[in-house]
Amino acid sequence: MKIHTLVLGDMLNCSYIIETGAQALLVDPSWQMQTIYDLLEQNGLKPAAALFTHGHYDHLHGAAELLEKYGIKGYIEESDVLMSALPARLLHIFKGDYKTKLAGLDIEFLHTPGHSRGSVCIKIGEDLFTGDTLFPGGCGRADLPGSNPKDLQNSLERLAHLPPETKVYSGHCYGPGESAQTTIGHEIKTNPFIKLALR
Ligand SMILES: [Zn+2]
Repeated sequence: MKIHTLVLGDMLNCSYIIETGAQALLVDPSWQMQTIYDLLEQNGLKPAAALFTHGHYDHLHGAAELLEKYGIKGYIEESDVLMSALPARLLHIFKGDYKTKLAGLDIEFLHTPGHSRGSVCIKIGEDLFTGDTLFPGGCGRADLPGSNPKDLQNSLERLAHLPPETKVYSGHCYGPGESAQTTIGHEIKTNPFIKLALR
C-alpha cells in the first residue's frame, strides 16, 4: 500500500490516493480533478471507491464528476449527506461507526462528530485519515453550523486512545512548511486540544 498526498485548491485541501495493487481508494477528492485523473492514469490505477471524511464543500465539491466517470460510490456518514449536496445514487451512506472491505483493505470509519455531525476518521491499518477533526498541533473549527465543541472534545479523546504509532493524515495542509501529517503519539505530547480533551 502506498499513499499519494495531493494538496489541491485554494483552501490547501489534502486529497489522498491510496494505492493498493492496481486499485486505488480516494480520500476527499474535491479540487482539480484533472490532477487526480492524471495521477491515477500515470500509475495505472483503477479507483474502487471515494471515502469522505465529512460533508463540507471543500472536501467533496468536485467529486460527483469523478464518481460518475469511474462508476464508483462515495462513502459518507449519513448526518453529512444533506450538506454534501451530492446525489444519493452516487453515495454509499452509513450510520455511525462502520467497517467494510474495499480494494482488499479493511476500512474502519470511526464516527468522530464535532467539526460536523457526520465527521469520521478513516482507519486503514496504522494509517488514520482525520479530515478536519485533527490537524498537527490543532483541531477543526467547532463554531460552524452542525459543529459541537463538546462532541469534538470527546472525539479527540477517542483518537488519543488509538495506538501512539498511528499515522495521522489530516484534511488540510495549512501554511507554507506546515505538514498535514503527524502521529497520535506526537499529538498526545504536543497538541493542546488533545491535552485538554484528556484532562
Ligand atoms: Zn470541514
